[in-house]
Amino acid sequence: MAVLVTGATGFIAQWVLDCLLKENYQVIGTVRSQEKGDKLHKQFGSPSKLSFEIVKDISDTEAFEPLFKKRGKEIDIVLHMASPCHFNTSDYEKDLLIPALNGTKGVLNAIKKYGDVKKVVVTSSYAAITDMVNSADGSLVFTEKDWNPATWERCQTDAVNAYCASKKFAEQAAWEFSKETGVSLTTINPVFVFGPQKFDEDVTSQLNTSNEIINGLIHSKPGDKLEPDYHSAYVDVRDVARAHLVAFQKDTTGERLGLSNGAFNCQSILDILNEKFPQLDITKGPEPGMGDTKPGAVFDNRHSKEVLAFPFISLEQCVYDTVAQVLKKEGRL
Ligand code: NDP
Repeated sequence: MAVLVTGATGFIAQWVLDCLLKENYQVIGTVRSQEKGDKLHKQFGSPSKLSFEIVKDISDTEAFEPLFKKRGKEIDIVLHMASPCHFNTSDYEKDLLIPALNGTKGVLNAIKKYGDVKKVVVTSSYAAITDMVNSADGSLVFTEKDWNPATWERCQTDAVNAYCASKKFAEQAAWEFSKETGVSLTTINPVFVFGPQKFDEDVTSQLNTSNEIINGLIHSKPGDKLEPDYHSAYVDVRDVARAHLVAFQKDTTGERLGLSNGAFNCQSILDILNEKFPQLDITKGPEPGMGDTKPGAVFDNRHSKEVLAFPFISLEQCVYDTVAQVLKKEGRL
């Protein structure tokens, strides 16, 4: 049974590859260049069960066609994870909305044309569920049934809004495809994903977008303003990877699996840093604008946790493992 993982170089995808290889699946990853595929293959110890195909830019709706023409019949499961996950742009259509939407449409159309795929899992996001404008409002509760109200036109005010909307439009396109074709679809909708990089050598001064929240706090000084002062929810990357496997190993057809293990805010992360890594000396005071611990909107994902039926990693463990890896790399642990 071969599993295709798109965007195999990604922070989350590398942990998914790890889980798949440990469970002995044949894995095909898409990467943007031969060099990236070669590096990853070597990092995993050059297993014969792992191979890569080049898909340069998912904004091109035909980008997946050569891969499916060549190997479509081998692929039983598709985990579509490739999508821009950053806020470094002011061209929201070109860099966020179009690649997210076209990437999803492109892989699904290639499946329809050339594949014999039994199951599709799309990595969506809590961003497709929540209403970002009200995300700090602790009186609100969202569930797996909710949708971000963003529109294509109104979301283009800033990169965060455009990113959130990109996840909504891509996910909606996947559900429409599933309805039209009958292909079994499950989506994975994680909140902020924290956790260590799969390979220590990939720790650099700038981490992936979500882990940058923790990285910024590690490198902050006493008295620094917490900006932005997040009030959201977290899940560990290793649990997100595991959920991708459960999504096709169990019958989860039609589910939007909401992944969250509860709230975090900057102060709760700082509390863990101060307790576990006192050498960092970054204690933040409770002055206004700093260390605000009021809860944000709640993501009630009890249904998804029942479906997944495995225990999630605690915030303490998740933050500890993330920070320890960074400090080791910097020679401070
Ligand atoms: P990364 O940025 O680490 O990974 C993104 C992946 O997509 C990389 O493999 C990247 O390739 C690929 N990619 C991006 N744009 C293109 C493009 N135009 N053409 C081809 N490939 C492209 O992100 P994460 O691992 O954090 O996220 C993975 C998925 O999970 C995304 O769909 C994201 O939206 C979703 N998600 C992430 C959350 C988080 O907190 N991290 C929370 C909720 C959802 P390359 O490495 O070559 O750039």
